[in-house]
Amino acid sequence: MIDEKGLRTDGRRPNELRPIKMEVGVLSNADGSAYIEQGKSKVLAAVYGPRELHPRHLALPDRAILRCRYHMAPFSVEERKSPAPSRREIELSKVIREALEPAIFLEKFPRTSIDIFIEVLQADGGTRCAGTTAAALALADAGIPMRDLVAACAAGKVDGVLVLDLNDIEDKEGEADMPVSYMPNLGLISLLQMDGSLTFEEFKQVLNLALEGCKQIYKLQKEALKAKYVAIKEEVETCLQS
Ligand code: ADP
Repeated sequence: MIDEKGLRTDGRRPNELRPIKMEVGVLSNADGSAYIEQGKSKVLAAVYGPRELHPRHLALPDRAILRCRYHMAPFSVEERKSPAPSRREIELSKVIREALEPAIFLEKFPRTSIDIFIEVLQADGGTRCAGTTAAALALADAGIPMRDLVAACAAGKVDGVLVLDLNDIEDKEGEADMPVSYMPNLGLISLLQMDGSLTFEEFKQVLNLALEGCKQIYKLQKEALKAKYVAIKEEVETCLQS
């Protein structure tokens, strides 16, 4: 997993993220949307709402409810995955919802729902984190008032080396994998899971590594949001000139 030069299977140094591309506003039918590529993982997020909630009895008198569906497309992995929701997808839908919930002013929209759909188009590790990052962008794109963006990234241990942003093979063959989501402005961690085993010292180092990754991703999120509005501004200016 780590060669004699200390490089990883995809040529990265231990503390390096995979190449990341993000785009906001990719689906015109959704209220907000975003697409992310992180290495070979490709994930789309769509947000609908705040909107009238069906079934109505689920509505809360003092806030909106947040619903989240994480789904892997059947073609997203080498061997066809059943489109039916697996236990893993049900778990990830729940943890992603909980990772995003503290960022949203749900109390501003009583009796409504905000629905998040995360579709993994290609999976190569780290999809719960990429899905969380994309969903936070889609929420912001939908104009939903937020306390902060949520950026997510995993870190872990592979061949005895502490590494950032594990890919699929590192996740499967490595000793530990710790997905983290973070709101840098609030200084809040909203997701922290761990597979495998680490000493307490390693745990602290891996957590710090993941938080550094989240901060880099947070910068990219802000750039992706700004890029959409720069494009709109340029379009408006061209219209006004003609
Ligand atoms: P995450 O994608 O958040 O790292 P996991 O650790 O559960 O979540 O999964 C790691 C990787 O394992 C996924 O990104 C994907 O590449 C692969 N994987 C997950 N489910 C399946 C599946 N049903 N078939 C094949 N590969 C899968």
